[in-house]
Amino acid sequence: MTTPYQTLYRKYRSQTFSDLVGQEASSRAIQGAIISDRVSHAYLFSGTRGTGKTTTARLLAKAINCAQRTPGSAEPCNRCESCRQVGAGAALDLIEIDAASNRGIDEIRDLREKVNLAPALGRKKVYIIDEAHMLTGDAFNALLKTLEEPPEHVVFILCTTEASKIPLTVLGRCQQFVFRRFTEEQVAGRLRWIAGQEGIEVEPEALALVAHVAEGSMRDAVGFLDQLVPMSEGTITAAQARELLGVADPALMDRLFDLVLAGQAGEALATLARIYEGGGELRQVVRGVMERCRDRLVVAVERRDAGLRARLSAALESLLHLDGEVRRHAEPRFLVEATLVRIAVEAVGAGLGPPAAVPTPPAKPSPVGAGLAPPAHVSTPPAETPPAGAGLAPPADAQAVGAGLAPPAGEPVPAGDLVEGWQRLLGQLPPKVKGLFREARPDREGSKLVLWFRYGFHHQNAQEHAGDVQPLVQGWLGEAVSLEFRLSEAGEQGPTSRPPAPEEHPFVQAAVRKLEGKVTRVREISR
Ligand SMILES: [Zn+2]
Repeated sequence: MTTPYQTLYRKYRSQTFSDLVGQEASSRAIQGAIISDRVSHAYLFSGTRGTGKTTTARLLAKAINCAQRTPGSAEPCNRCESCRQVGAGAALDLIEIDAASNRGIDEIRDLREKVNLAPALGRKKVYIIDEAHMLTGDAFNALLKTLEEPPEHVVFILCTTEASKIPLTVLGRCQQFVFRRFTEEQVAGRLRWIAGQEGIEVEPEALALVAHVAEGSMRDAVGFLDQLVPMSEGTITAAQARELLGVADPALMDRLFDLVLAGQAGEALATLARIYEGGGELRQVVRGVMERCRDRLVVAVERRDAGLRARLSAALESLLHLDGEVRRHAEPRFLVEATLVRIAVEAVGAGLGPPAAVPTPPAKPSPVGAGLAPPAHVSTPPAETPPAGAGLAPPADAQAVGAGLAPPAGEPVPAGDLVEGWQRLLGQLPPKVKGLFREARPDREGSKLVLWFRYGFHHQNAQEHAGDVQPLVQGWLGEAVSLEFRLSEAGEQGPTSRPPAPEEHPFVQAAVRKLEGKVTRVREISR
């Protein structure tokens, strides 16, 4: 006799609390309630998809009705009649309602009629309402009446990805548990375990890739593994995983991003086309570009390179917007192309990347590129030009990166010393001039000492006395150091005495919010 094929996700759905991955706090609290027989009448499990809400709800239902549960333990026995019925999806006392397809008042009215009937086998009748936020207003009202006076033998578990759409009146009746996204380590660990159980060989890099693309959803991750198994004979490789997931070759993605930042729009589009034709999924491409942009931005913030930071921030903002759009469109290729071209053009306009920055590939340069990328530096006054290729040059161009970041004259001055030195310098100025410069905040940018002013009149008056300050600055930081006066942009207070942590930057925070992730590591990309 052959058993029907079961997806890996169903096959390896946790059957005990000890087998649950992550969600430790919620799991502990729920187990505590089971053990002490203080199970609430209504729960709300909220969190993004694939974080184990329904799995936990079923586990709770099973434990409540298990006939042979060991006292002092929350674990269901998985052997008694009730446990076996739940396991087989045939328990009369466990009613699952998918609110996405049964969202009307009729279903809830039906529920309200039957809710008073005693459980068939176990102690409680458990209702799991999946995607609860999809219920209509009327259905919520009907449900609320039941929640207000629940029969003793009923437990409701509402599961939702959007808790904010649950009416407060309903929310107030529920005990809420928030299910967190799984970390990539947790997902990869579970995949490794499942693969081991199934006797499947998987390259660690492939597991990491699946875990990354699943974005914290265990269901998606295990689903990907399920699809990978038939694709491979023997070991599942990273290349196979990339192909399935539509993830482009990382080297090609690096190149795409470098081209965009260097303003080589035509070349960038050609690379995008190669990625696309190679099966790269556009959502993944946008995400990949976004991640690279974020990494560069973190470095720029860390190095307090205000000019580069502003431009990368703008690029990231465009990409964040694009990311939202790409999810909504069925065929978003044009959107992706248009945004990348715009970022490329703006990069050139800002004098960012010299068009020669990215090594030209064997293929001949595209005529489109020539048309789109105007010569660099045309409309940019020299003062606005950042040190050549600072932080933006492609990986191969290590020399340029180094040269741009280290001031040619003298050693870089640590932030603390800079403020201290500036204070000393102020002390040497005549009182009237000192008054003009007291508001300025010093910052070091390559061979420049940049003075940031918050107010236009300080900014202007101080410049008229640049001659008084310049010699002192050169005496302090070296002959080659020039002075530059800048007005802080609205909202930007200029550099503070404490260098901001990279993760504190608003755009990094915006990216973190958008990706619903967290900064786990700040990596310096100097290559
Ligand atoms: Zn049992």
